[in-house]
Amino acid sequence: MARVEVSGESGACYGVERALELVERVNREAKGPVHTLGPLIHNPGVVSSLEEAGVTAVEDSSEAAPGATLVLRTHGVTPAVERRAREAGLEVIDATCPFVERVHRLAEKLASEGYQVMIVGEQGHPEVEGTRGHVPEAPVVLSSQDVDALEVSRRVALVVQTTLAVDDLRNVVGALVGRCDELRVCNTICDATSKRQAAAAELADRADVMIVLGGMNSANTNHLADICRSRATTYHVETLGEVDPAWFLGVELVGITAGASTPRNQVEEMREHVARLCG
Ligand code: SF4
Repeated sequence: MARVEVSGESGACYGVERALELVERVNREAKGPVHTLGPLIHNPGVVSSLEEAGVTAVEDSSEAAPGATLVLRTHGVTPAVERRAREAGLEVIDATCPFVERVHRLAEKLASEGYQVMIVGEQGHPEVEGTRGHVPEAPVVLSSQDVDALEVSRRVALVVQTTLAVDDLRNVVGALVGRCDELRVCNTICDATSKRQAAAAELADRADVMIVLGGMNSANTNHLADICRSRATTYHVETLGEVDPAWFLGVELVGITAGASTPRNQVEEMREHVARLCG
């Protein structure tokens, strides 16, 4: 019978818990319809329970009902997007994580100090797009090849997508050393992300099988899955129904971890489910 262990650091982070509480409160108190701008978090289970409670996601503020409340999600948005929503007469509630807001402020400050700001992150990721809105001239880089393709100034400053794997930052820093006189690295990878990555790696080193719970569209969950895959047989799932009991045959230790967008009750349900299948 396999043992089941949940990673010491896993599941919803401060920013996600805060956003969920905020949207639930707003939904209780609002007189009109409540929307989120895009799915509140990258977690299909949470998004459908919000829909059941009457909170629907819209892709653009123009799709919101007149007089509605629009909640901006943890990833943040560009100043132009926020302005458009307010100008459309919507009640805007900002659930941007304070750690993401800090990246916006830092990027603006570094640009005003004359640094060539680069955003280390995934092209097109909503958080990166939001940050770019604050420093529109900043290129987005993720690899040494991205850096090689750029004109590099004498003074460069890096800010980082909060959910990025630290190895990606290392690669970009390595590619910039020697190409500028001054390199300022603001490691804005969130504590929640790095702690989850370290704890997942430690558990995956001991486990035979790892279950990674969280949205397929969640960057931080995908990074956790990559980290686990290099250490143990790993299955990335979104729901209990995807778990196959055959995965646990002849296995001694099953590890479970979950991305920062997975509420803790879902992690606990997964632990109970896997324990039943192993028993
Ligand atoms: Fe905020 Fe960190 Fe959670 Fe992102 S991972 S929402 S930065 S607490």
